[in-house]
Amino acid sequence: MIEKNSSLKTFNSFSIDAHAHLLFHFQQLSQLPELLTLIKKMRSLNKPVLVLGGGSNTLFCNDFSGLVIKVELMGITQSEDELHHLLQVAAGENWHQLVKSTIQQEIYGLENLALIPGVVGAAPVQNIGAYGVEFKDVCVSVDYVDLIDGELKTLSNEDCLFAYRDSIFKGELKDRTLITSVSLKLPKQWQAHCRYGLLKDLDETEASVSALQIFDNVCRIRSEKLPDPRVLGNAGSFFKNPVVSANLAEQLLSHHAEMPNYPQADGMVKLAAGWLIDQCGLKGKTIGGAAVHKDQALVLINNGNATAQDVIQLAWFVREQVLQKFAVLLEHEVRFIDALGETNLQRVINNV
Ligand SMILES: Cc1cc2nc3c(=O)[nH]c(=O)nc-3n(C[C@H](O)[C@H](O)[C@H](O)COP(=O)(O)OP(=O)(O)OC[C@H]3O[C@@H](n4cnc5c(N)ncnc54)[C@H](O)[C@@H]3O)c2cc1C
Repeated sequence: MIEKNSSLKTFNSFSIDAHAHLLFHFQQLSQLPELLTLIKKMRSLNKPVLVLGGGSNTLFCNDFSGLVIKVELMGITQSEDELHHLLQVAAGENWHQLVKSTIQQEIYGLENLALIPGVVGAAPVQNIGAYGVEFKDVCVSVDYVDLIDGELKTLSNEDCLFAYRDSIFKGELKDRTLITSVSLKLPKQWQAHCRYGLLKDLDETEASVSALQIFDNVCRIRSEKLPDPRVLGNAGSFFKNPVVSANLAEQLLSHHAEMPNYPQADGMVKLAAGWLIDQCGLKGKTIGGAAVHKDQALVLINNGNATAQDVIQLAWFVREQVLQKFAVLLEHEVRFIDALGETNLQRVINNV
């Protein structure tokens, strides 16, 4: 189904009322020839094409002048071998519902990733992660349509080049893939992962902790900690945790001994973006209808009537404050989309 000049307000978790020139609901693989013809036409007119899942990691900065493909492919196939449960999940399935249904079926391994908004097809793109587990830990392979040659292809886990909030789909294959399904492998011999963040409370009883307990704890902690996008528009963590040189980390620690810091295998040091923003006194800071969440400095919210410009101005203000105070440049995790396709905070600000 194709819609013209369609509002995207209900298709992005910031609830920004941008419009798409064309919106294609991709619900069955049999629509592929029609979709590929449309994409070809858009390209010949120099119009951008955007693949969209649940819109929970996307900020629409303007109306989109091209084709938005809303991926709504559904279906889950289950099988098993001696040691594993194997799942093939279509890209339009809701991620949290998948996690919940596996737990209900006593298939464990996804519990740490409960309540991450969005759909399955987006999970490999930024290699979603939470509480010490990442998508890459359970992924066997990813099926996708190559939007350049129209062919259906498969990438193995290794070929996806997964890294922290990153994959080949954000690099070499950016803007040329439409993920149709993912294959997951969950060991029958389940092992708890609860050494991370607030799950540490469960750690002492790790020998007896159940996947259901972890699932319930993750859901509870996340519901208490993060605003529900259905109530308060937001896109989760707005900025990535910055990774800085050991030298800079040392300098900062000499002034802020309490600064959270996580040395990395390559000698760099990861810092907590939320802590840096909080130290600038920005919790609750508002610009227009946009605000830094009063409890979670890393989350920018739509108080109800924010325009994309409000969110952009606020994100810029936050970035500048952190840069001035700590000499650390924050990068946004949220994908910025303007009329012509992907852009970034710096470019959007330069054009204001
Ligand atoms: C309250 C909240 C909490 C969050 N917590 C976390 C967290 O703990 N960990 C975490 O990692 N993320 C988190 N996020 C971010 C977000 O949920 C994830 O990035 C999620 O995977 C985005 O899914 P989506 O379907 O909404 O993606 P969208 O925003 O629709 O798309 C994100 C990107 O994926 C691409 N994409 C989507 N579907 C496809 C497809 N089928 N084929 C090819 N490309 C595709 C899009 O083009 C875009 O580049 C959170 C967000 C919110 C709002």
